[in-house]
Amino acid sequence: MQQNCAPTQTPDVDQAALREKYLAERDKRLRPEGQQQYLEAEGEFSDFYEGDPHMPVVPREPITDEIEVVILGGGLSGLITAHRLQEQGVNDFKIIELGGDFGGVWYWNRYPGIQIDSDAYCYLPLLEETGYMPKEKFSKGDECYEHAQRIGKHFNLYDHAIFHTLIQSLQWDDEINRWQIKTNRGDEIRARFVVMCQGPYNRPKLPGIPGIKDFKGHTFHTARWDYEYTGGNLHGGLDKIADKKIAVIGTGSSGIQAIPHLAKGAKHLTVFQRTPSYIFERANYPTDPEWVKSLEPGWRAARQRNFHNAAFSFYSPGEPDLICDGWTEVARNLAAKLNATPNYEGWAALADPVKFLELKEIEDYRSMERLRQRVESIVEDPETAEILKPYYRNMCKRPVFNDDYLPTFNRDNVTLVDVSETRGVERITEKGIIIGGVEHEFDCIVFASGFEITTALDRQYDITPFAGKDGTSLYDHWGKGFRTLHGIMANGFPNHFATGFIQGGVTAATTLMYEQQADHIAYIIKQAEERGATYVEPTPEAEEGWVQTVRQFSIDNSTFTTECTPGYYNSEGEPNGRSFLGDPFWGGFYELTELFEAWRGTGELEGLVLDK
Ligand code: NAP
Repeated sequence: MQQNCAPTQTPDVDQAALREKYLAERDKRLRPEGQQQYLEAEGEFSDFYEGDPHMPVVPREPITDEIEVVILGGGLSGLITAHRLQEQGVNDFKIIELGGDFGGVWYWNRYPGIQIDSDAYCYLPLLEETGYMPKEKFSKGDECYEHAQRIGKHFNLYDHAIFHTLIQSLQWDDEINRWQIKTNRGDEIRARFVVMCQGPYNRPKLPGIPGIKDFKGHTFHTARWDYEYTGGNLHGGLDKIADKKIAVIGTGSSGIQAIPHLAKGAKHLTVFQRTPSYIFERANYPTDPEWVKSLEPGWRAARQRNFHNAAFSFYSPGEPDLICDGWTEVARNLAAKLNATPNYEGWAALADPVKFLELKEIEDYRSMERLRQRVESIVEDPETAEILKPYYRNMCKRPVFNDDYLPTFNRDNVTLVDVSETRGVERITEKGIIIGGVEHEFDCIVFASGFEITTALDRQYDITPFAGKDGTSLYDHWGKGFRTLHGIMANGFPNHFATGFIQGGVTAATTLMYEQQADHIAYIIKQAEERGATYVEPTPEAEEGWVQTVRQFSIDNSTFTTECTPGYYNSEGEPNGRSFLGDPFWGGFYELTELFEAWRGTGELEGLVLDK
């Protein structure tokens, strides 16, 4: 079913004129406060983060315990790490998770319409190990959540879980070579090792709209959907809001998926849009049993590599696009043109990176124009269609895939409000929202305003203190940029491991990155245990060495990011904002795997100090 992936037909464009338009649209939205424009979900908004609308929190006695390994977070990265620890024979571990079950983002995010926006065959982890095949290319949210539960059951991880518990402080204790952990349930746990698996989408954030605290109506965040209020479930059927006037703020991945369902359920829906998303056809399909039968062992790794080539590298001459969706459209269209040259002559251009970027840019502009035309072809009112057109480059924001969103604006009970000129919603009042100086009343405001992804690290982690040796704060240590060995350990923070976008390898299937990191972390913990060590820490020299390695391979894509429309991908356009990819090792994801394997292969634990 994937073999015949054709290039898309894209129109000719006036690239220079469009570039000017892109820059003007960016300038309209840039805010001097950058990331500071967002409010943290704390104080009177703490329920937007800590509250669980899905499952009651059962009272329990505080835990006092000594544990070998604490994994912070029971989402996909925490589950992968737990599995890799088990593979190494490390079984004294606990997974501490804020939610009432495993799943992380898939536990929390249950808004109507939730569905993966990325190839499920690549994304969902431990498929071969659990004997599971996704039902369709873009799994629905409940299938992802169920898969997390499947992993939990299959590997007996429920016995290791401490749910509905939020780690609030982490302090290294020199006397006992352990981390002292305190939680919101009054627990006091001493862990030899701590592995951070909080994920990038752990903490919802709120727009810092003047008056947001004044609103007396109902509110919730998409990541904590209130079905008590709306009725229905993640497949839709919001039958309790038929008499309600609803406002939704935010039109990113979450907003786009929830809005069609809100529109169907509400008396009236007003969508506040600051920047339009770029929306590909969903083009979902059920998994073909014949295709499944044809798969050879290793199919998944090959598919992930194919996806990686499209997103972070380029296809080889003649290489098919196995993913065949919006993520790979630009690479596929470029490859089709190069493949069409005699004897693949065009591919020679790729030896010159500047030429490659030029060729890619042309396909990028054409593809975005195709998507703007798609808006026009679906949305009946030309003015509304114009507001919904995205004027920025591919990958300035997260691509979205949806067939129901754009037709929603043909409904009589839906109003689109463009708040780009005011750089966001002007003001919230007790009763509603000001639009063009006039107050409009609403029963409920839904915040589809995203997560603390590239905001300051202390906002993302929300752990205070986070103190290593001599009380040094991790936030200070990484204040001017990440400093790690292999993206997972830091000098001054013994027995502490990070996962995620921190000086590591990046690839299109994020869960594969977690697997790469978990393999490395589990190995180091096992080695420390086998050697009787209670302490393992990278030397300052090893850390500096990795910083230099990352720097040596770094790619300067600041022109691209600064020209992008603001969003979390470019730290809201802040001049020296942190990339959401976290200062990656650009030497290649698969090269990094080889580097890690070679490092482990020597058995020397080079660059680490152990106390035995
Ligand atoms: P998001 O992409 O950060 O979107 C936040 C939205 O809120 C944007 O539309 C933003 O507008 C808007 N906004 C913020 N402040 C505003 C203000 N003052 N006034 C008006 N609008 C304002 O958040 P998200 O949609 O939750 O998605 C976050 C990430 O989660 C995604 O990029 C994706 O990686 C992941 N995700 C994935 C899936 C999936 O796979 N299916 C689904 C949901 C989320 P601007 O664009 O102008 O800033």
